[in-house]
Amino acid sequence: MQTKFSVKKAPLRRLIMMVVVLGAAIALSACGSNEAKKGTEGKLNIVATIGMIGDVAEQVGGDHVTVTSLMGPGVDPHLYKASQGDMKKLDGADIVFYNGLHLEGKMVDILEKMSSHKTTVAVSKTIPEAELLSDPVAPDSHDPHIWFNVQNWMKATEVIRDTLIEADSAHAEDYRKNAEAFLTQLKETDDYAREQIGQIPEEHRILVTAHDAFHYFGRAYNIQVMGLQGISTASEYGSKDVSDLRDYLVEHHIKAVFVESSVSTKAIEAVIEGAKKMGHTVEIGGELFSDAMGKAGTTEGTYIGMVRHNVDIIVKALK
Ligand SMILES: [Zn+2]
Repeated sequence: MQTKFSVKKAPLRRLIMMVVVLGAAIALSACGSNEAKKGTEGKLNIVATIGMIGDVAEQVGGDHVTVTSLMGPGVDPHLYKASQGDMKKLDGADIVFYNGLHLEGKMVDILEKMSSHKTTVAVSKTIPEAELLSDPVAPDSHDPHIWFNVQNWMKATEVIRDTLIEADSAHAEDYRKNAEAFLTQLKETDDYAREQIGQIPEEHRILVTAHDAFHYFGRAYNIQVMGLQGISTASEYGSKDVSDLRDYLVEHHIKAVFVESSVSTKAIEAVIEGAKKMGHTVEIGGELFSDAMGKAGTTEGTYIGMVRHNVDIIVKALK
């Protein structure tokens, strides 16, 4: 339910802001540099669940925000439980951004509770129902891995931009400018992915991974996607899944499969081993970033960097 938690204003904060603004006006302070904002050094204090959201918030917020992402490199959001330290960060946040669509499966209750007194925003909220894919294992739920279609992340960027403008209208122009620049880069990344994946011969254009994170990617960039696990890593894979995927690899002469930074490689190794016994050699084409970005400070530690990395690895192994 991506509409479950919509933007909610904290009325008390509004009131405090009004009083502060009014007070400042009456005082006719010559300095007038103090912003009516919470957080350190007058910056908006933003907490994001996954790194891909935190990155966008940093890009759009620029100097006016401090951003903390709860889930770092290699962390699986489907299984992630908020720690005591996370609860403190969430409590201190002015705005909380999360993916929604049940990606943060173990944090739903916390986010729901928080939405009564804090601005909590699901960045997936403006993606039209028709654009959402369903979870093949649980048809009532949506596939939450929306960031793999860069155009979806452009919509998420707009949601973050609009939320920041509403929370801190004094810097609206900066948020607008930052978002516009970032949206241009996203558009270029979207074009790049489509053009590069298009260079893989059609009969080789099959992406096999450990868990079903890449369906939006597959639909957006025209590559067939096969996963071993369901949409969430919380669902177990069975020996039949392994043998089905093994048979598929052998039958379609697939030469490379991919492992993921946030998912155990055990399952995919069992498939490779099985194929080998049937006389078909499958290589590991490389490590894809699926549900978490790479290390901070590296190219893959950004949303755009991770998408480009994935595209390059896939093209290199399958072309
Ligand atoms: Zn996932």
